[in-house]
Amino acid sequence: MNKTLILIVEDDRPVQNLMTTTLKAHDYRYLTAANGEAAILEVSSHNPDIVLLDLGLPDMDGIEVIKKIRTWSNVPIIIISARSEDSDKVEALDAGADDYLTKPFSVEELLARLRVTERRLAAGQGEQQTASSVFVNGKLRVDYSAGCAYLEGEELHLTPIEYKLLCLLSKNVGKVLTHTFITQNIWGHSWENDVASLRVFMATLRKKLEQNSDSVQYIQTHVGVGYRMLKVE
Ligand code: CA
Repeated sequence: MNKTLILIVEDDRPVQNLMTTTLKAHDYRYLTAANGEAAILEVSSHNPDIVLLDLGLPDMDGIEVIKKIRTWSNVPIIIISARSEDSDKVEALDAGADDYLTKPFSVEELLARLRVTERRLAAGQGEQQTASSVFVNGKLRVDYSAGCAYLEGEELHLTPIEYKLLCLLSKNVGKVLTHTFITQNIWGHSWENDVASLRVFMATLRKKLEQNSDSVQYIQTHVGVGYRMLKVE
């Protein structure tokens, strides 16, 4: 029995039904809300493990819902957005959402996003217990206190920017980070050409990380949105 409790916030009945049927079939526990106000109430009263949030709600903007929830809760929020809401998706991630699904989505995509988030939750719990300054993900090891990163025990020769990027991604493993979030963290601002530079640094970092071509992917590109470090089994 899967004990993860999921709150589905969706006003579109057929989409809500697809989600509840899928979650039921995979032994998730779930709650539903059809508007923003109900969603905020459900989060505060039932403390779900994950929130699936439609951005286009009848009573308020999904981004407002995220901002309200983030004032007291770090619950992972996965946005459900229509393609026409692409810029809203980036705004929602910057407001504190963790991930997104674009409509129309498949049942497999939904389950995959939930697994990514569950792994992140599990990893976060482990971190809290050990309060470790060393991050381990597959063959990758980042020693934050020493300021070094290793792949299969061999030190990676990273430039200061590449190392900063790696730390930022690893500290947010499982979470999609937007271009704006990353550039602001690395350079303290987010100008047009920062995103172009970011693309270059990310390419060289990935080359070093994925050099052994054993098909392990650590960094995922989200076109037009940003990047995410995947939690490797
Ligand atoms: Ca809607």
